[in-house]
Amino acid sequence: MVMRTSPDLHTHSTASDGTLTPTDLIDCAAAAGVKVLALTDHDTTDGLEEAVAAAGRRGIWLIPGVEISVTWGGRTIHVLGLRVDPDHPELGRGLGSLLEFRRWRAEEIGRRLAKVGIEGAYAGAKSLSNGRLVGRTHFARFLVQRRLAADERAVFKHFLVNGKPGHVPGDWATLESAVGWIRGAGGQAVLAHPARYKLTRTRLLRLLGELRELGGEGLEVVSGSHSRDDIFNFAQHAREQRLLASAGSDFHGPQLSISAHPWVGLGRLPALPDGCTPIWSDWPEFADAAASVSSAA
Ligand code: AMP
Ligand code: MN
Ligand code: MN
Ligand code: MN
Repeated sequence: MVMRTSPDLHTHSTASDGTLTPTDLIDCAAAAGVKVLALTDHDTTDGLEEAVAAAGRRGIWLIPGVEISVTWGGRTIHVLGLRVDPDHPELGRGLGSLLEFRRWRAEEIGRRLAKVGIEGAYAGAKSLSNGRLVGRTHFARFLVQRRLAADERAVFKHFLVNGKPGHVPGDWATLESAVGWIRGAGGQAVLAHPARYKLTRTRLLRLLGELRELGGEGLEVVSGSHSRDDIFNFAQHAREQRLLASAGSDFHGPQLSISAHPWVGLGRLPALPDGCTPIWSDWPEFADAAASVSSAA
């Protein structure tokens, strides 16, 4: 039997807010039968070197990636860079500026939570991270440990989103800069989990139009955040807007899922709907991995 190679092009490690080290992530992916995997940590490429080495040992094709935080139209959206050169200086400088904002923001979240009586949240969140990047997810895990909320989702809802005590507003990269850094580093820019933004049709079409004009190439059609309806809806947008379709679990760790769709796991993804052009269709890595899987079968 020929196994279907299922690329998973959106995952996180301890370099950002995942719970597995890059090496453990690769081991988990190998156990799940994944052949092509992108590591796409938030605003950093720090995990890639370790991931590439581990992937080499496991026979996985590791796609170097990043998930860049962008402010567009007053809201935060995420843009994936796939097949980026992690050492490209312009990308490095750009991500550096976002990491600097993240450092200040993490301390500010701590100060704001202290004002509502939650002491030590910054130190607690930092202790749950690798120290390089302290994101909202680390605060969420800390508050759950402190039993201030039942789960991470509840922490976000009650403490970390707009209008709540630990919310810190701020500007991430512009869409233009993020796509520019990705393209400058030789990568392909993909709008991540589009259903999460709850945009009106008009605004969504504007966003997709801008993305394409800037040289962005893809739309994440299959995502751990997407319902089956979302998948078909965004497959149609990809076809209509002539964007390539991507697929990724947005895996953050074995016990964790921000998705309401537990049927999506690391490397366990529904197929792209017919008529979409997969972003990996002309990647040599995918052809090689698919060939090695078929010949082994
Ligand atoms: P940050 O980039 O530090 O602002 O954090 C964004 C991350 O928080 C996302 O990538 C998710 O991992 C996580 N996240 C966002 N919203 C939620 C939610 N409602 N429940 C659980 N985790 C969430
Ligand atoms: Mn995350
Ligand atoms: Mn995201
Ligand atoms: Mn993600």
